[in-house]
Amino acid sequence: MTLQERDKKHLWHPLKQHQTHPNSLGIVKAKGCVLTDEHGNEYIDAISSWYTCIFGHCNDYITSRVYDQMQRLDQIMFSDFTHEPAVKLSEELIKILPENQNRIFFNDNGSTAVEAGIKMALQYHFNKGEKRNLFIALENGFHGDTFGAMSVSGLSVYNGPFEDFLMHVERIPVPNGENNEDILEQLKEIVSKQKIAGFIYEPLVQGAAGMKIHKAEDLNVILQFCKENDILTIADEVMTGFGKTGNNFASNEIETKPDIICLSKALTAGLVPMAITSCTEEIYEAFLGDSIAEGFMHCHTYSANPIACRAALAGIELLQSEEIQQNIHQISKAHIAFSNEIKHHNKITNVNSKGVILAIDLKTNSSRYGSLRDQLLKSFMDEGVFLRPLGNTIYLQPPYVITEEQLKKVYTTIEKVLDTL
Ligand SMILES: *Cc1c(COP(=O)(O)O)cnc(C)c1O
Repeated sequence: MTLQERDKKHLWHPLKQHQTHPNSLGIVKAKGCVLTDEHGNEYIDAISSWYTCIFGHCNDYITSRVYDQMQRLDQIMFSDFTHEPAVKLSEELIKILPENQNRIFFNDNGSTAVEAGIKMALQYHFNKGEKRNLFIALENGFHGDTFGAMSVSGLSVYNGPFEDFLMHVERIPVPNGENNEDILEQLKEIVSKQKIAGFIYEPLVQGAAGMKIHKAEDLNVILQFCKENDILTIADEVMTGFGKTGNNFASNEIETKPDIICLSKALTAGLVPMAITSCTEEIYEAFLGDSIAEGFMHCHTYSANPIACRAALAGIELLQSEEIQQNIHQISKAHIAFSNEIKHHNKITNVNSKGVILAIDLKTNSSRYGSLRDQLLKSFMDEGVFLRPLGNTIYLQPPYVITEEQLKKVYTTIEKVLDTL
């Protein structure tokens, strides 16, 4: 029996309607940018397996550092103990995060990083004796699948059955360069009536919305307003972090720095799950006091797992290398050239790129999980390229180690598949 057949007996996959989509392809190997299925077919992983494995799959440097760590210290409770990989990781991250960040809190996935960020913001105000109970978020944002993260997310395709149980959130439009005044009016209206704890946003690129890109100076108008009104700002950099936008973090490109930052996905270079919520010293200090209740009573069992910390440290080393910085630059340049080449294609409405992220919006009206999307996915796989369209949008987010030849193959495959539509 194949993996695909055995899979059907006991497994339940995420984001899947098993009745209409019963098959899951068995993958037996992943190395560099290439995935190999159980029949020996190869695919270029053009989306870094959901934006995680930015230095390629099974990167030798990262796996060797992790193997070494596994021989010394595997897991230890982080509420009572500390260890070198966590200490070193905090030191290295603080060097590259926006300059106002000074504290590192560990979680285990992107959703819980957001969850912790939300709780930090609420308790910050609570500890200061102020009850602020509402969040502001951008339309079509995506922040994860746990209840707090779902609440601030604006993609209702995921949230339908749970809406009655979510926190109250006010949603504002994504800045588009022309609506700054309208957004400010809306914000003033919201703060005149309600007590706002925080504003959460995906800086510069909204991932799940279809890699939608907005400008730093427009987002800055909102962040500035939040600062002036004591609204804590939470940058969800789970997708944008670690070089995707061409900078270590998208927030580095925006003048007003966030109070809290959520990190995951590429944090551990795709090797093991981990996440971090970082914050300013000012937020941390609001949790100091004589009573334990003033502290942050939030914990995940695998917090700061030493193996995950080691993977993250190896990743940060690679990220800062001349070679990887050069690769990021080359991919960004190639994306711009390809965008210019295809932007007048009659099947395309819009092509945008930011760093290694390229988004191609199609004219055809496809629903998020509709048949066109399935057809596109299959056409790409048949050509040996793994691309996973989001609604009307085909996007690329290749590992930084993708070769020129592999990237070219991804581009020509997109052109070829567009011509068949
Ligand atoms: C993926 C993602 C999350 C959720 O992370 P998980 O690890 O899947 O829980 C949150 N925010 C953004 C921006 C993401 O892209």
